[in-house]
Amino acid sequence: MSNLSSDNKNIEILDNGKIISDVIDRKIKELSTVDNEEPFYVLNLDSLLKRHLRWITNLPRVKPFYAMKCNNTPAVVRTLISLGIGFDCASKAEIQHALSLGATPDKIIYAHTTKPLSHIRYACTHGVDVMTFDSEDELLKISLCHSQAKLVLRIATDDSKSLLRLSTKFGARMASVGKLLEQAGKLGLEVIGVSFHVGSGCTSGLTYKKAIADARHVFDMASLLGFQMKLLDIGGGFSAIDDFQDKFEEFSGVINEMLDKLFPPDGGVEIIAEPGRYYVESAFTLAVNVMAKRVVANEADEQNNGEENSPDKTIMYYVTDGVYGSMSCITTDAAHNKLEPYPHRAVDGSEPRYPSVIWGPTCDSLDKITENYFLPELHVGEWLLIDNMGAYSVSLVSDFNSFERARIYPVVSAETWDTLNLSHTYSIIP
Ligand code: PLP
Repeated sequence: MSNLSSDNKNIEILDNGKIISDVIDRKIKELSTVDNEEPFYVLNLDSLLKRHLRWITNLPRVKPFYAMKCNNTPAVVRTLISLGIGFDCASKAEIQHALSLGATPDKIIYAHTTKPLSHIRYACTHGVDVMTFDSEDELLKISLCHSQAKLVLRIATDDSKSLLRLSTKFGARMASVGKLLEQAGKLGLEVIGVSFHVGSGCTSGLTYKKAIADARHVFDMASLLGFQMKLLDIGGGFSAIDDFQDKFEEFSGVINEMLDKLFPPDGGVEIIAEPGRYYVESAFTLAVNVMAKRVVANEADEQNNGEENSPDKTIMYYVTDGVYGSMSCITTDAAHNKLEPYPHRAVDGSEPRYPSVIWGPTCDSLDKITENYFLPELHVGEWLLIDNMGAYSVSLVSDFNSFERARIYPVVSAETWDTLNLSHTYSIIP
């Protein structure tokens, strides 16, 4: 389901010492006065800027083209445009969305190897020329609808060390690359580069090493066939939360070394990437309301369980957002599927903790956020917060049971507001 309707042009400036938690406190108070317990996000635009600075420090040669599929919230897209970032779009609607918010066609790569004909035509008529392919059939379609396209051949990677694999579905095997290039030549199409994606939650730098070496091989084959290759796209899959906190720096080291060896700066090849989760993952904090609760007495044998002081009850909480809303990552995203909600209110260290199960609001028992999770006892009406909810959350919300989707409230520090010159785009909330 698309998030395109929620174009909130209001933004709150964090000035006079105000911090994110002040905004959350106030929002919760406001909601309680209007009898509303809907979930909401606070979107911290400073986090996007921080991630971008970390990107350019670590990968100075690699231009990011943000993968819109990850989170297409207008405030995110606008902020990234003001940072000079390009976009990876996967459909006509994503291209439309990027263009409508101010992205220019030369800053868009249509990075989907299997595209509907009408979407290719749309790209053509709107000046989006760079697009990926990995099969002869796609080449034929592109030759019919967009013969001037600048094509990027996506190759498969060995993504067996990634938590979420993509090369099972996309990417040409090295053995078929020669034939694909020949076919492109026969159809009079221009192939300008190579792309790959190592999958999400990549745990080994060797995956990048091998993929960049394979890309070099394709470049060499292509130039023998007369193509002027000038673009290398190293895809997405970057993260810097949970177990991946330091991986970004580690992988950047591997990538830079390989690029300098195989695609040196004076070689005339532009290097881009398609990061999604890296940019947005830590920018969103979700607040959900405890709308119902059920205390279940533990059976005697569960209580003893060989341990002293085993709790005598488990508490089930039912909150206003869940797996069919913002939290589908629990079932679909192997790279980020353990969420850690924490109480919004201050918790005294001496308060007893109880084993808890947190359920989403729908009627389905798959809609479970976490279990065997220790929390102090909460009451109906209290709030839980979840950090790092920016990636593959708002872009995957379904309409199941028609619960309200979480509203998004963007905030920014006064410093970032000035740095990014956001006054052209937003109205300030006093
Ligand atoms: N590029 C392509 C083609 C993708 O399919 C994806 C994710 O599915 C991405 C980029 C973004 O990946 P990530 O969010 O893991 O960086």
